[in-house]
Amino acid sequence: MQIIRTIKDMQALSRNIRDEHKTIGFVPTMGALHEGHMSLMKRSGDENDFSIVSIFVNPVQFGPNEDFRQYPRDIEGDLNKLSSIKVDIVFFPDDKEMYPDGFSTSVNIGSVGEILCGASRHGHFNGVATVVAKLCNIVMPHNAYFGQKDFQQTVVIKKLIKELNFDIDVIVCPTVREHDGLAMSSRNIYLNHEERKAATVLYRALKLGEDLISSKGLVDALYIKNEMKNLINSGPVSNIDYVEIVTTEHLEKVEKIKSPVAICIAVRIGKTRLIDNIITTGIFPFATDYQT
Ligand code: AMP
Repeated sequence: MQIIRTIKDMQALSRNIRDEHKTIGFVPTMGALHEGHMSLMKRSGDENDFSIVSIFVNPVQFGPNEDFRQYPRDIEGDLNKLSSIKVDIVFFPDDKEMYPDGFSTSVNIGSVGEILCGASRHGHFNGVATVVAKLCNIVMPHNAYFGQKDFQQTVVIKKLIKELNFDIDVIVCPTVREHDGLAMSSRNIYLNHEERKAATVLYRALKLGEDLISSKGLVDALYIKNEMKNLINSGPVSNIDYVEIVTTEHLEKVEKIKSPVAICIAVRIGKTRLIDNIITTGIFPFATDYQT
């Protein structure tokens, strides 16, 4: 496994791989790796001749009052984990390499980046789109792998790749969870013992929403969201940022559920903001409206 720290070296390597007609799979990460990240890397390793992972905590996707400085960093631990699977190259640039003095370009992804998480994290998705665009030009992958865990991010990235004409296939991989359903996240280490127990409420609320739609056949999104909110509010230390039911393609809010939807939530557990989602295909041909 090679560790590359400069853009110039990374581009030269990728160019050589492409010249040999080999495929490149790419997994961008911010490090503090866990099984969720590893599942993407295993898939990239299986499906490509070369698998490249980037580790870069991207400053431009953090707001001024967010956790950029505290964000967990563990490059030694990360490299150990990577050595146990098929990863050929780790791209590990520093901030100056990615954003040299005077850097001022950014990608504006538009309104899809201003709803859900974007409503409270202003500019976050433009920061994500900017770094992913840069990384794609540096790594030049054929296939790029992202987790469904960050569902809005997958929609943003698909839009970026399509609208800026990157010749890259975006592959979305399932969310990897702890035994009790909590979605794995680098931020889970912020949770104390009590908060860790309380954090399972995200998955429980999503399963409730999924059950109301897929098993009970309910279609009234407001009713379903309220049931989920009641469950979340019944637990300790949780504070809802949003509970939304949206279309899977453009993240438009749904009132009557008629086709597959994404149930998306963001909840603060203590000071830690966690997100999760479930996509449900429902039982639409038989769906009945909720009657009070
Ligand atoms: P991050 O390091 O948080 O930027 O995540 C890097 C990639 O890993 C993103 O595509 C995430 O969606 C993905 N990812 C993070 N957590 C999980 C998880 N629990 N299951 C699947 N993918 C994940």
